[in-house]
Amino acid sequence: MIIVMQAGASEAELEHVVARVERLGLRPHVIVGTERTVVAVVGDERDAVSRGLETLPGVAAVLPILAPYKVASREVQAEPTVVRAGSLTVGGGRVGVIAGPCSVEDREQIVTTARAVKEAGATGLRGGAFKPRTSPYSFQGLKEQGLELLAEARAETGLAIVTEVVSPEDVPLVARFADVLQIGARNMQNYRLLEAAGRVQVPVLLKRGPAATVEELLLAAEYILDGGNRQVMLCERGIRTFESHTRFTLPLATVPWLHARTHLPVVVDPSHGTGHANLVESMAAAAVAAGADGLIVEVHPDPKAAASDGGQTLDVPAFGRMMDVCRRIAAAVGRHL
Ligand code: PEP
Ligand code: MN
Repeated sequence: MIIVMQAGASEAELEHVVARVERLGLRPHVIVGTERTVVAVVGDERDAVSRGLETLPGVAAVLPILAPYKVASREVQAEPTVVRAGSLTVGGGRVGVIAGPCSVEDREQIVTTARAVKEAGATGLRGGAFKPRTSPYSFQGLKEQGLELLAEARAETGLAIVTEVVSPEDVPLVARFADVLQIGARNMQNYRLLEAAGRVQVPVLLKRGPAATVEELLLAAEYILDGGNRQVMLCERGIRTFESHTRFTLPLATVPWLHARTHLPVVVDPSHGTGHANLVESMAAAAVAAGADGLIVEVHPDPKAAASDGGQTLDVPAFGRMMDVCRRIAAAVGRHL
């Protein structure tokens, strides 16, 4: 349920409401909006007696939350969430561009890429140190050494680091290095990992599972939000269909659909979404036109030599061209890169 506070409610009245909700065995999430403060109440409400909450001092109304996802819902927070992580801003009219290699390979590769993507206008640097690979025989990433190289690239360029965490035990380690924790498509429903990401105060980029519905994506985000971490970005990265001309099918209707239902910003990954470097620019432009708040794009100085995902990876000149097109599209739809 949502407890809507009166416009002039005092801090003491709010604290009193929060304490009452906790006594009912439920969890209060206080959301301070520009127009009103609300308390989203989550937990198993079956036995909770909401009677009495309406009459507490400072309370304007008590309403049910109709969506199955609660804290993520627009019903609870009308204003869009803007995610800020160092140099990277996603949402609020800014299209954040996160670019870099699929995997961190060595110092030269990550630092060269970081400089080049920054020059072209990216505001975040991606690079996998812990790689979840389909085959156990494929390159698994440089792990902690990869995190150290990413930190060096940040020191050289100032770019915020976006990197994947694949297990709950690694969250504290990755959170020490990363500006944004990426939770990959394969782990979207790893609930212990989502809970661990909810316990840190580092923004999260949550990728949609290739076989997950958007409602399941929102419920996965809810685990992180309910844990107390409100800085969550959703990422459409393509789903599995019968279609085989692309690696995945990239459904861009997800972007306006999500915007209508959640305040969380939406990022699109045209690299994994298509699997082909020659399709990335068009789909990045289409994503911006559809209202995406951010892009995450694979870029490598020499894609043919990349340790992973070379076929869908842009080289530096192609990334520059993609940025030029996206900048013009963003301006046409009232946003900027
Ligand atoms: C990646 O970003 O390199 C990656 C593994 O993506 P996904 O989890 O979407 O497959
Ligand atoms: Mn990849």
